[in-house]
Amino acid sequence: MSAYDPKKIEPKWQKEWEQAGLYHAEDSSSKPKYYTLIEFPYPSGDGLHVGHPRPYIGLDIVSRKRRMEGFNVLYPIGWDAFGLPTENYALKTGKDPRIVTKENTDTFRRQIQSLGISFDWSREINTTDPEYYKWTQWLFLKFLERGLAYKAKMPINWCPKDKIGLANEEVVDGKCERCGTEVEKRERKQWMLAITKYADRLADDLDTVDYPERVKIQQRNWIGRSEGALIKFDDIEIFTTRPDTIRGATFIVMSGKEDKFTGRYVINPATREKIPVWEAEYVMADYGTGAIMGVPADDERDRIFAEKHHLPIVENYTKAEFEDYGKKVAKYKLRDWVFSRQRYWGEPIPVVHCGKCGIVPVPESELPVKLPEIKNYQPTETGESPLANISGWVNTICPKCGGKAKRETDVMPNWAGSSWYFYRYCDPHNDKQFASLEKLKYWMTPVRQSGGGVDWYNGGMEHTVLHLLYSRFWNKFLFDLGLVPTSEPYKKRTSHGLILAEGGEKMSKSKGNVINPDSIVERFGADTLRVYEMFMGPFEQAIAWSESSLVGPRRFLEKVWKLAGKGQTLNIDSQGLTLMHQTIKKVSEDIEAMRFNTAVSTLMIFVNELDKREEISQKEFEILLLLLAPFAPHITEELWSTLGVSQNSIHTEKWPKYDESKLIADEVTIVIQVNGKVRGKFVASANITKEKIIKAAQEVPEIQKWLVDKNIKKSICVPGKLVNFVTS
Ligand SMILES: [Zn+2]
Ligand SMILES: [Zn+2]
Repeated sequence: MSAYDPKKIEPKWQKEWEQAGLYHAEDSSSKPKYYTLIEFPYPSGDGLHVGHPRPYIGLDIVSRKRRMEGFNVLYPIGWDAFGLPTENYALKTGKDPRIVTKENTDTFRRQIQSLGISFDWSREINTTDPEYYKWTQWLFLKFLERGLAYKAKMPINWCPKDKIGLANEEVVDGKCERCGTEVEKRERKQWMLAITKYADRLADDLDTVDYPERVKIQQRNWIGRSEGALIKFDDIEIFTTRPDTIRGATFIVMSGKEDKFTGRYVINPATREKIPVWEAEYVMADYGTGAIMGVPADDERDRIFAEKHHLPIVENYTKAEFEDYGKKVAKYKLRDWVFSRQRYWGEPIPVVHCGKCGIVPVPESELPVKLPEIKNYQPTETGESPLANISGWVNTICPKCGGKAKRETDVMPNWAGSSWYFYRYCDPHNDKQFASLEKLKYWMTPVRQSGGGVDWYNGGMEHTVLHLLYSRFWNKFLFDLGLVPTSEPYKKRTSHGLILAEGGEKMSKSKGNVINPDSIVERFGADTLRVYEMFMGPFEQAIAWSESSLVGPRRFLEKVWKLAGKGQTLNIDSQGLTLMHQTIKKVSEDIEAMRFNTAVSTLMIFVNELDKREEISQKEFEILLLLLAPFAPHITEELWSTLGVSQNSIHTEKWPKYDESKLIADEVTIVIQVNGKVRGKFVASANITKEKIIKAAQEVPEIQKWLVDKNIKKSICVPGKLVNFVTS
C-alpha cells in the first residue's frame, strides 16, 4: 500500500465534490431540513489565518453529520465586505475598493476551499455586490416607510482620526474601537434606526432561544431595562428605580461635565425639606431623565458624592411605598442605532433631499442606488462623506415632483449587510425579492424543536451586542411586516474561542505572529489541520497555536491509512464490539455538545486498539471511517472508495447507530500468571465469579504444563482481569 500523501488526495476530492454538487442544499426535498450558519468573514487583505477556520470546521462537522443522518443541509458562506479596512487601504493606495475586495475574496475562497469545508458555494453572497445591496437598500426603505428610520440632530460619538460617527457599540472605554483615538461628542444630523422600539421584545424573547447564558446576560445588560418611577422635585423630574427611598433623598444631581452646585434648591415632596441641586458627571444625560435624587444612605455612589461635598446623610428614615410615587415606568440603557456613516465604502442610503418635498425615498424600480466610482476616498473636512464631492452623482431629480434634488451622501454602517444575510442564503439568486417567503419558510421554520430560525449559528462572543442584537432587531421588524416567518432569527447560538499565537498573544499582522493555513496544508495536509484544530482544546475556549503539536494528528491519520492494509477477519470479538459501540456513542454525543476534542481522542483510542491487532474486521474499519469522515473528509473518502462496499461518497452514507445492549462488555479476557509470569489467557463471561476463574484457568491447555506435578499454594485473583497461581 502506498504512503499517505494528502497532496495527492485532497485537491482531487475537493474537485470531485464540487463537480458533483455534493454539498449543495436542495430547495425542496423529502428530507427534513437543517440550516447551519457561521458568521461570514470580512475578506481582509491579510488573507485567512489559522483562527478563521476553527468555527468553520466545527460547524462543518455538525453539517456533515446531519447530512449522514438524512437531513437536507444548508451550510452557506459569503463575504461581509463593506467597511473601513478596505476603504482605508483604498485611501492609502488609490486602488478601487471593488478591485481590492475581489482580490481579497479570491484569496479567502481559495484558502477556505483548500480545507475541504462543505460549504454550498452555489449560494455564495457578497454584501458589496449591487445585486445584494439593492435589497439592503430596499429593507432600509421599509424602516423609513414605517417611521423607524429617521434623521435626527444629536450628539454623536465622533472619531477625529477616522472622521466618522460611531455607534455606542463601537466606542470602547471612551475610545474609537477601530483606532483607539479618544472619541469626541459632536452634533450632527444622522440617520437613526429605532431599535429601542423593540427593546422589550429583544430582552423578553431571549427566554425562547437556545443561547449560552452569558450571551443572554450580555444582551440583557446592554438593553439595560430598569423599572422605576418618575418623581417631580418642583420642576425637576428625576428617574429612580427606588422610589421607596425618597425620604432619604438629601440632594438632586443632574448630568453635567463636572461636580458643581447649581445654586438652586428644590423641595423633596416626601419630607418637604429644601434640598440642593448639583451637577455631576456620574449621572448620564441620556439615561432616564438625566437627573437623579441622591440617597447617600442607600446608594454607594451617592454616599461618595455626599461625603466629598459635605452633603447631609440621613441614615435612618422611613421607607415609602413604591406605589405612592407616580406611575411605574421602564427605562433602558439601549439607544437608537446611529445608522449613517460619512464614508464611501458602504451602501448608499437610498433617499433624495428635495427643497419642496423633503426626504423622498428612491423608488424601488431605481434600486440599487449604486456607489459611483471615484478617485479620492478622503472624507471631507466638514465631516461629510467623500460622495458629497461628486456633483454629477449628488445632483438628481426628485422622484416625486421632478424638481432639482440632491442625493443623500451618507452610507450605511458595516452592520447593515450582515443584519439580514442569512435570509439571502435561502434564496440567493432571487431578483424580485430579498428572499421569497416560501423559501424562508422552508429553511427557517422548525423541524426539531419549538421555535424557528437558523437551526445552529456559531459566532464570536465579540458580536453579542452588535451583530447578534442588530440582526434580531431586523428580524423582529420584518416578522411584524410578514416578510419573514419566525420572530427570532436563530434557534441556537454557540461560540468558539480564539486561536492565539504561540505564547498566547492575539494574532495580528502588526505583531508578525499570524499563521497562514496555506503553509500548514502544504506541509501536513488539510485533514491534519482540521483534526488538530478540533483536538487542540475545548472549542469554546481560547487556545494558543502549537506548531509541534501538529505531528500527533498527522501520525493518527497515518495510522488510519495503514489500517487499510491490515489482515481482515469476519469476526469481531465481544470486547471489540463493545469498544466499537462505545466509540459510536461517545463521538455522536460529543459532536452535538461541541466536545470535538474528546471526540477526536475517542477515535484515537479506537484506532490504537485496532492497530494492536493482527487482523481487524471490515465492519470495525467501516465504522471508524464513517465516524472520522466529518473530521477528516478527504482521507476517509479515499479509503472508503477503495473498500468497495459502496459506490457512494462516504459523506452521503448513513451515520452509524450504536446498540445500547452492546455498550457494556459481556466478555472479558483474563490473564493467567504462574508465579507472577504471564503464561496464558482465556475469555470468560464478564460476571464470572472468583471460584470459577480459578477453576477455568487451570483447565486452559497451555497452562497445564506449568502446573503439572506442582502444588498450588495460593491463588490470587483480580476478578475480570487476572489470576496468579503461586506454586511450591
Ligand atoms: Zn477612530
Ligand atoms: Zn420634490
